[in-house]
Amino acid sequence: MSDECIFCRIINRELPGDIVYEDDRVVAFRDINPQAPVHLLIIPRRHIPTLADVSDDDTELLGHILQVANVLAGKFDVKKSGYRIVNNCGADGGQVVFHLHFHLLGGAPLGRFA
Ligand code: AMP
Repeated sequence: MSDECIFCRIINRELPGDIVYEDDRVVAFRDINPQAPVHLLIIPRRHIPTLADVSDDDTELLGHILQVANVLAGKFDVKKSGYRIVNNCGADGGQVVFHLHFHLLGGAPLGRFA
């Protein structure tokens, strides 16, 4: 938990968030500025700043996040039509919020690159 981190504060209900899924390791909520009809953010409960900060111990967590993404794709009815998972890593990757998160985008044809 980082007191400065807006995603940690959403997890802890200190800030509002439209949470659509949670379990003991992962939380998912709607992006506040959606770039597609379905735009969710899937994040670990544990504060990990970027994908570059994960260790071998996080291998199962990363797999779990992708499994949750697939479950949510079904729940939000984009599993058959298709969807995109995006991780922006670090400054040059375009990351703005430094709590590891994966975007799930779908519900319309997406451009070749997000
Ligand atoms: P990134 O550029 O990968 O770091 O993306 C951060 C994402 O977080 C952006 O798509 C923002 O719209 C989203 N975001 C920022 N603040 C909030 C918030 N309070 N609730 C939901 N999504 C947010």
